[in-house]
Amino acid sequence: MSSSTSSTGKRIVVLGAGYAGLTAAKGAGRHHRVTLVAPEERLLHRIRQHEAAAGRGRDWPAIADLARGRTIEHRRARAVELDLAGRKVALDDGTSLGYDTLVYALGSRTAWHDVPGAAEHAHPVERATEVRRLIREAEHPGTLAVVGGGATGIELATELAEAHPDWRVRIVAAGRVGGTYSPKGRAHIRRVLDRLGVAVHENATVTEVTPDGLRTTAGPIEAGLTVWAASLEPHPLAAQAGLAVDERGRALVDDHLRSRSHPDVHVVGDAAAVTVPGVGTLRMGCATALPQGQYVGRLLDGRTAKPFSFRYVVQCLSLGRRDGLLQLVHPDDSMKPTVLTGTAGRLAKAGIVSVVLGALK
Ligand SMILES: Cc1cc2nc3c(=O)[nH]c(=O)nc-3n(C[C@H](O)[C@H](O)[C@H](O)COP(=O)(O)OP(=O)(O)OC[C@H]3O[C@@H](n4cnc5c(N)ncnc54)[C@H](O)[C@@H]3O)c2cc1C
Repeated sequence: MSSSTSSTGKRIVVLGAGYAGLTAAKGAGRHHRVTLVAPEERLLHRIRQHEAAAGRGRDWPAIADLARGRTIEHRRARAVELDLAGRKVALDDGTSLGYDTLVYALGSRTAWHDVPGAAEHAHPVERATEVRRLIREAEHPGTLAVVGGGATGIELATELAEAHPDWRVRIVAAGRVGGTYSPKGRAHIRRVLDRLGVAVHENATVTEVTPDGLRTTAGPIEAGLTVWAASLEPHPLAAQAGLAVDERGRALVDDHLRSRSHPDVHVVGDAAAVTVPGVGTLRMGCATALPQGQYVGRLLDGRTAKPFSFRYVVQCLSLGRRDGLLQLVHPDDSMKPTVLTGTAGRLAKAGIVSVVLGALK
């Protein structure tokens, strides 16, 4: 067994190098030695995966560059087992790491919702490069269905339709597309989908995915290629290991983002069910993962002892490369009527993506 120790002898291990894990490691790594476990060499940058699916650049920074200036050892491996009683993590390279403090930031993945055929015939947004390759290698433009009417589905459908105007793109939602946005926000999303020629199928719950398309509660939908962005589910290791989790499998944490069942484990990002007074339980998102990681970094570095606090301000969507939506929200994430659209919305989203990258550097 091996792991890095700090000057105080404390072994800090961070699992996951997404927005939450990386920022936590960088904060803690100012004065402690941190072992950061994640398989990838470069930042996954999930909030730009719809762009990668559409064939746009993947010049995402190396984790080694983002970790520069901190005492962080990056172990390129996957955690396969977590022994909470013995305080050790088994990795897929056959080694294990002991810890005094663990930061669990394994994030989430697209949920299949047990829909028959989905895992076999649909492509989750995490496999953006596969989607890009299939489009590039297709003999002729075909039909492409994006399943999911939330933010990720909308960003994917608009990006793909704009990049591939010769493909017939459709978006399929169990409810309304963009149903959580304000009336003005929804109307703008619909206008952009119409302008880009995206067919909208609402109230169409997918019941089966086949090689040729979808069976839905609103009838069959033809699709030679199906991209799946139905919703996110947390990584299963927390529940498997015995951390206390909610009904979705997100780890329950206290106001210092410590596991309620195992206080030597901090849980941040999509993996955590964080409840903030006056705000509610935070949704999965980069917007919530980043401040949680930053907070735990400061906590482990001794720069704060206060409880975690958070307020929502905006929600942002890119709608292709030429349009976007900035939706103002109340502190609890409920919609305000005000939106910015078009170039202003696009620039706002691009600005937020730059701020995210800046926070990781
Ligand atoms: C296309 C798309 C667009 C999005 N746009 C937005 C947006 O505009 N705004 C917003 O707020 N949110 C957005 N999101 C959601 C956002 O990306 C996630 O909520 C966010 O990435 C969560 O961050 P995280 O650090 O918790 O986890 P993740 O980003 O999921 O990172 C998880 C980390 O854990 C690692 N990992 C996984 N399994 C293992 C293992 N077994 N062992 C070791 N490491 C492992 C991964 O490799 C990764 O490093 C978007 C998501 C997608 C897919």
